[in-house]
Amino acid sequence: MKPFRFTCACCGETHQGLPAFALDRPPEIHALPPEARAARGRVSDDFCALLPEGGEGAPRMWIRTVMILPIRGEDETLEFGFWLEVSNEDFDRYLHSFDGEQDGMSCRGVLSTDCEVYRDFGIEGLACTAEWFTEARPLLTPDMAAHPLARDWHEGVPPERAAQVAAAYLHR
Ligand SMILES: [Zn+2]
Repeated sequence: MKPFRFTCACCGETHQGLPAFALDRPPEIHALPPEARAARGRVSDDFCALLPEGGEGAPRMWIRTVMILPIRGEDETLEFGFWLEVSNEDFDRYLHSFDGEQDGMSCRGVLSTDCEVYRDFGIEGLACTAEWFTEARPLLTPDMAAHPLARDWHEGVPPERAAQVAAAYLHR
């Protein structure tokens, strides 16, 4: 496989290969002050919950997923470790089947994770379907065909946009 090479808009160097783009927690939790994060946030590699302020109401819940986008004319793909906000019911179903069989299961949710380059297109709130797997993280399919991220998912990311994402991530 030919690695993706690009001239970096940040440092001017030529970089080779792409990292997997992921945040260790959803931006909603990242944005909290440390005391609130400690008191109300529950974070692991695959699950995340934000307990309601004052203990009233339902918690918000996320699962860690993967979205893979082809890059036009390239062998390499862009791989995002997006957090997907899901219903409490789907979260429980996912949690309780996590150590067992998950092939053929799925849920819907909305993207939470911010991404520098797609931010202007309103990536947060994009509805997606997550297909679950026993041996791998859930794989996302965007529901809205008209969304710029969904279009890139279908048609391939222009190489310039892939280079922008990588430069923003490598030099954050
Ligand atoms: Zn660079």
